[in-house]
Order: sequence, then C-alpha cells, then structure tokens
Amino acid sequence: MSLEVSHLTKRYGGRAVVHDVSFRVDDGELVALLGPSGSGKSTILRVIAGLAGAESGRVRVDEQDVTALPPRARDLGFVFQNYALFEHLTVADNVEFALRVRKVDRATRQRRRDELLELVGLGGSARKYPGQLSGGQRQRTALARALAHQPRLLLLDEPFGALDARIRQDLRQGLREVLKRIGTTAVFVTHDQEEAFSVADRIMVLHRGRLLEQGRPQQLYRAPQTEFVASFVGRAN
Ligand code: ADP
Ligand code: MG
Repeated sequence: MSLEVSHLTKRYGGRAVVHDVSFRVDDGELVALLGPSGSGKSTILRVIAGLAGAESGRVRVDEQDVTALPPRARDLGFVFQNYALFEHLTVADNVEFALRVRKVDRATRQRRRDELLELVGLGGSARKYPGQLSGGQRQRTALARALAHQPRLLLLDEPFGALDARIRQDLRQGLREVLKRIGTTAVFVTHDQEEAFSVADRIMVLHRGRLLEQGRPQQLYRAPQTEFVASFVGRAN
C-alpha cells in the first residue's frame, strides 16, 4: 500500500514538535525517518498509527483518508524499541496472538506462524518462552508478531535501539530481506545514520520537527542540500 502524510503539525503545551511535515511512501517501499533525539520521529509515527491526534494534517493509506479512524481500523503493524512480548506465552503463541484476536482459523494461524518464524530465523525456537531468548531473538519474535496479521503498513520505532552493535547489524540485513520478500511497505524510525543508510530505500531527515531533506541514500550522501544533513550524514560515513 502507499502512505501519504500531508501538512502534519503537532503541538505539545503550545510548542509545535512537528511542523508542517509532508511525505509519501510508495507501495513496497522501506523508508527511514532519520533525525536526532527529540526531532519528532516518534510523534509522527504515533500520529500515523492513530495513537495520537494532531492539530492539523491528513494521513492517507492507499489514497483513503484514515485521519479520523481508530488504530485498529488502520491495519498497521508496530514494533517498538522495548516491545513487550507476552512472557507467559511461547514464541509461537506470541506470533499467533494477533490472529487469535482476529479469529483466524487454526490451520491458517499455524501456517502463517511457521512461515514467519522461518523467515525471521526462529524456526527452531517456536516452543521457547521469551525469557529463554537473546535480545536479538526477542526483537525478531516481535517482528514476526507484528507481521502475523499481514498489515498493509509496518511502523518500526528504533526497533534495535536497545541491542548491542553486532546484533543490530545482523538484524538490519534480516529486516530488509524479510520486508522485501513479503513486500510490506514500512517506515523505519532511527537516530542512527548508519542504520538508516544500510536499511532504507529512501531516507527522510528530520530536524526540530521539520522535514529537511529526503532522497535515496546515495543522493543524500553525495549531494546534501543543507549544512545540517551534510554534517549529520557525514559524521557516520
Ligand atoms: P524523537 O522520537 O525524534 O526522539 P519525539 O517525537 O519523541 O522525538 O519528541 C519530539 C518532542 O516532543 C520532544 O521535545 C518531546 O519532549 C516532545 N514530546 C513528545 N511526546 C510528548 C508528550 N506526550 N507530551 C509532551 N511533550 C512530548
Ligand atoms: Mg522516539
């Protein structure tokens, strides 16, 4: 599906933390929203998900205006930095959870669960409990769980932020492969330039609530249009 955010402005206590932000994500595209801490990345994702309202702006999914719809009606998957798995359920049951809620039949649930666990490299861990997993395995479980109901759009908010550098690197590549194989449209939020450059088809750079520049990684790297992007991107490379 495609996503379109237009003229989004969000205030907290009178202060605009997101200023007139507009962008489009095409079907099957994996876009990174890159910016330093406090630049408004999570706020934008929360508005797209319907978890927060905005002073002005529209959100469209496949050209349909979803601005007034509740989160459940938007058909999204969400992965957070400290994604809470159900500790009393096995990996398999965590992944199946969203399907049970939606009353998907058992055969379909099991097939989709097995496919996703295979895809994220956890085929052998279906019967384990979250407490028996490493940090990287937990995030891969969270990813499989978010994809189980086949959302039209996946939102990822610093999903690897809490993990150490080596595991993060493995997961980046894994995430890209999984999303490309399924063809899911995704918005990936990060403050890590390297992460954005290695994962995304296109990068949007956010600074103090404003969208400064957007472009393909090579394009931003070779020909940044602003001093901020030149230094922010340059430092990582
Ligand atoms: P990022 O995800 O890029 O770190 P956020 O979207 O979390 O940035 O926050 C952007 C700004 O909005 C920050 O200054 C933050 O303090 C403020 N902010 C975020 N959520 C709230 C809230 N619920 N109430 C008040 N201020 C908030
Ligand atoms: Mg954030």
